[in-house]
Amino acid sequence: MRYFLHSIQMIAVLAVVAGCQQETPPSDAQQAGGPAVESAADSAVNEALIPPERLEIYAPVELTSDLGALSTRQRQMLQRLIEASRIMDGLFWRQAYGERDALLAGIADPALRHFAEINYGPWDRLDGDRPFLPGYGPKPLGANFYPPDMTREEFETWDEPAKSGLYSLVRRDDDGRLYLHPYHLAYRDELNKAAELLRQAAELADNAGFAEYLKMRAAALISDDYQPSDRAWMDIKDNPIELVIGPIETYEDQLYGYRAAYEAYVLIKDRAWSDRLARFARYLPDLQRNLPVAEAYRAETPGGAADLNAYDVIFYAGHSNAGSKTIAINLPNDEEVQLQKGTRRLQLKNAMRAKFDKIMLPIAEQLIVAEQQPSVTFEAFFQNTMFHEVAHGLGIKNTINGRGTVREALREQASAIEEGKADILGLYMIEQLRALGEALEGEQADNDVTFLAGIFRSVRFGASSAHGKANMVRFNYFKEHGAFSRDPESGRYRVEPEAFRRATASLAELILTLQGNGDYDGVRRLFEEKGIIDAELQDDLDRLAAAAIPVDVVFEQGEAVLGL
Ligand code: ZN
Repeated sequence: MRYFLHSIQMIAVLAVVAGCQQETPPSDAQQAGGPAVESAADSAVNEALIPPERLEIYAPVELTSDLGALSTRQRQMLQRLIEASRIMDGLFWRQAYGERDALLAGIADPALRHFAEINYGPWDRLDGDRPFLPGYGPKPLGANFYPPDMTREEFETWDEPAKSGLYSLVRRDDDGRLYLHPYHLAYRDELNKAAELLRQAAELADNAGFAEYLKMRAAALISDDYQPSDRAWMDIKDNPIELVIGPIETYEDQLYGYRAAYEAYVLIKDRAWSDRLARFARYLPDLQRNLPVAEAYRAETPGGAADLNAYDVIFYAGHSNAGSKTIAINLPNDEEVQLQKGTRRLQLKNAMRAKFDKIMLPIAEQLIVAEQQPSVTFEAFFQNTMFHEVAHGLGIKNTINGRGTVREALREQASAIEEGKADILGLYMIEQLRALGEALEGEQADNDVTFLAGIFRSVRFGASSAHGKANMVRFNYFKEHGAFSRDPESGRYRVEPEAFRRATASLAELILTLQGNGDYDGVRRLFEEKGIIDAELQDDLDRLAAAAIPVDVVFEQGEAVLGL
């Protein structure tokens, strides 16, 4: 899964990919692109279909980490991992669009060319994939995974048992019939190179478990059999360097959501935070007992904070680097492996800091009163995010009135209310840990003010999504309970500490009660009544829009930036 600021559950499709032994497959290049590509690729493109300020929505950030503790061999290993990741980047270009070099060479304006690089094609990923170069139609929903002229009906009536597989392209043979072209054949040369780099990296790895994983991942890349390496990845715990690589997420296939896109992350573990989280996990039973709700709703044993760790990312490639940048990872997606071994959650600390510095701070400067702005800190933002994850383990999973699990009872509303719960209980946990004397940087006021600023960040794009609604519920609940006030002169917000504390506890109680009662109608009413943006807030959000705050970040990354 990829995460922005909240988790999205999606079920991975399992399928065995059958190879095609028919006629010689046409090359990727012949099928690249989608409609109307040729007309644009021949002549240099100078005119964009978007205003120049749109090209500046991504704030550039250098992607670095402290590599001082790494040995020479580890640094050499990182170079191999980055090289292998670059290969994933090239493969993602082919899946998302087609021929990268031809597209980029045809764009004369460097800023426009850079925008095409960020978007991995001529379509604006943060504006509903609208084309920003002349000569291009809408982005094909199936990207370059399917023939551009294939209809849904043709696919759905196609008698091919493995057609919903994760690891194959759909192509046409010389007679125009559909066939499956497995990734390990379609991209054989590139995947062989990437596999060789992973084997070289394995030779350089001092950590035996990580070396074994790299070898298994190399084998997976050239066979499209990813389960064994996914299992091995769940068993490695103590490696200081981490790699996520392969065809993983299926969001790029907007036609069916079947086909996985190549991506990679190279990561360095943040030992200090990871140790700290393990320590906090010991408090979970106490925190569960002290939840601000009637006893029946806090009787369950809390889930552990197993496998939650902090990392610095030092390289993004392919799908993970396209458009909006992920700040947390939850993998593997393979359901069989999940059932056997669970998942691992990786919080990407330096990427969060990049978004905090470039997006969150400028928002706070517009919307938080001057005297509370020093309380908007990265440490508080990171703590709020980490404890959100831990807080998923607290609360209640089964209704107390025989309506089954909370998830069953609340159906399509379950995940939005669960995210709302994790947000509020994460904040509550921080407050409790501070009261217990645990050393956390900063003060509770930092967590509270940063939390409020985070709501503005999340609702900036409207309350239309389920998670946007959950944020609006929190905003309006806090407003009604006096948790913050708004200075009518400046239109800026001030946290009112004591009311904020009380509202945190009473909203936690409300959510836990709705969950424990499996109260589908109650949750729906809550979203209907409070999941709205009123005129006053809309004015404030409009001020944000006028301030031209970046929408996301783009990384300057690689060996030179890292000093490798
Ligand atoms: Zn969550």
